[in-house]
Amino acid sequence: MKISILGSTGSIGRQAIEVIQKMPGFFDVVSLTGGSNIEVLRQQIKLVNPSNVCVKSENDALLLKKEFPKINFLHGDEGLIDIASDTTNERILVSVSGKTGLKPTLAAIENNIDVALANKETLVMAGDIVMKRAREKGVKILPVDSEHGAIHQCLSNRDEVEKLIITASGGPFRNSSIEDIKNATVEQTLHHPRWNMGKKITIDSATLMNKGLEVIEAHHLFNMPYDKIQVVVHPQSIVHSAVEYVDGSVIAQLGFPSMHIPIQYTLTYPHRFEGIETRSFDFIKAGRLDFEAPDMEKFPCLKLAFEAGKQGGTLPVVMNAANEEAVYAFLDKKISLWQIYEITKKMMDAHKSITNPTLDEILETDMIIRELTKKSTSK
Ligand code: MG
Repeated sequence: MKISILGSTGSIGRQAIEVIQKMPGFFDVVSLTGGSNIEVLRQQIKLVNPSNVCVKSENDALLLKKEFPKINFLHGDEGLIDIASDTTNERILVSVSGKTGLKPTLAAIENNIDVALANKETLVMAGDIVMKRAREKGVKILPVDSEHGAIHQCLSNRDEVEKLIITASGGPFRNSSIEDIKNATVEQTLHHPRWNMGKKITIDSATLMNKGLEVIEAHHLFNMPYDKIQVVVHPQSIVHSAVEYVDGSVIAQLGFPSMHIPIQYTLTYPHRFEGIETRSFDFIKAGRLDFEAPDMEKFPCLKLAFEAGKQGGTLPVVMNAANEEAVYAFLDKKISLWQIYEITKKMMDAHKSITNPTLDEILETDMIIRELTKKSTSK
């Protein structure tokens, strides 16, 4: 399988390289792209020997070219799109973070390349456009997100689905009081009980905005109305998500909380192989599985996401942009954790949503809201 990894130095990208290394002879890595973490990229180049590499800055590209003269180096957003459009690829993994994922994903679809998609912002911002084009071109969008990977595995006949059940670990503040959440420090918020992830998604997991983004993601991926998507808190993170059918049967996907398994699934789909996961799942060791309703008072971001998703248009774009910039401001200790919700809600309330937005309208809305949010969060 000829594949490329966009965002290979991030958390998902690094784990994808681990999966690839455990399956020698299976993958041929065409291209890697990284931002500015040149040290990690240098190691990955030596491990998988790609033909092309894209980095953020031209300087880094020139520097690496001297070290690896046989490799073709590209840079910037255009380089990223060139790599995503390269029809040598049979599949690309889009694991870049934030809105950077949108254009390369569309470029791959235009060139009939299947996409393993780890970038949920792409669907939150432009799910209608992306999924419509993928259907028209017959391109597969394979979700890396563990919940959506689970649902993908549980779906047999979509016409007979009653609802999707998306599980949530509940994050570090599941048992905290609302006061404690309001006063949470960056360090407390970054301490996730189950998953080791990048900073942005870890903060989103603490506010349950991540689950909200996943609800919108699920709506687009599986073409499911919002009233048929249920979020259930499941602190053990063993059940990764489930599908209920019209006859009352529920099919769930279970396993260790490990991103290696869903990453490998999207890279080898429709087949399964022995790979990086060598442990056998043990129900007896897992012992018990708990489930509870999410607390919308303590985690109002989840409510915002359902509202944004149901209204559609550019409202999810606004929510995504405001939330992301507010998360960065929180990480910079400029605002409190609770203000992420307050600022995002304020931006959503003030926005006049555009129905059926074009890609340009989406990108413009995204830019304006980011500027406004940065202004309102700078001291
Ligand atoms: Mg997830």
